[in-house]
Amino acid sequence: MTCFLKCLRPLGWLWAAPLTLLGLFCAIPGLGGAKWLARQNGCLVFVDSGRGLVGLFFRKWRLDSTARVAAITLGNVVILARASFAQSSRLMAHEAAHARQTMILGPFFPVVYFGHWLILFCVRHPTPYRAICLERLARRASGEIS
Ligand SMILES: [Zn+2]
Repeated sequence: MTCFLKCLRPLGWLWAAPLTLLGLFCAIPGLGGAKWLARQNGCLVFVDSGRGLVGLFFRKWRLDSTARVAAITLGNVVILARASFAQSSRLMAHEAAHARQTMILGPFFPVVYFGHWLILFCVRHPTPYRAICLERLARRASGEIS
């Protein structure tokens, strides 16, 4: 990374802070239900405890029929569905890409992400989750697609 980008990183953290705080909220015992796991790829990594709001998200939420939710990224916080998923360098690179996207888009990340999903859903795209531009970029960054 160039010196210029390293110098901009604190601004990215600040710009992503609202979503990072939401992610940290999910780590409050009894509320979100996530537990601390590690710091990895510049992200604070938590794992779902199976209780609370995060566990409900992992059990109930589906963006389309092909989407398995293995992790969610809120700012610089990554919450994994299972602790063993931290061993997947591809998944962690994917989630780190979402964290970098949030450092660029800031609080507009969910607007762009879900806005694009909504458009794809409304035009009856067969796999809207997989076609979201931010998902495609994250899969490319993790080496899942070229
Ligand atoms: Zn993703």
